[in-house]
Amino acid sequence: MSEPYDMWRCPITNCGYTYDPDRGDRKGKIPKGTSFESLPDTWVCPICGGSKDKFVRMVEPPA
Ligand SMILES: [Zn+2]
Repeated sequence: MSEPYDMWRCPITNCGYTYDPDRGDRKGKIPKGTSFESLPDTWVCPICGGSKDKFVRMVEPPA
């Protein structure tokens, strides 16, 4: 299972999408197990089309 800090949230109001590496992104042809950091820079939110660099971590990783 993904740790919360492996999951990234779309910041667009009313979107609510969260990228979970365990699920990947079928619409974006991203296979399961792909970390957010490994997504291509051209990847966009499958719900609202927001750009990857706008995404924020669900929680900060432990130090
Ligand atoms: Zn979005």
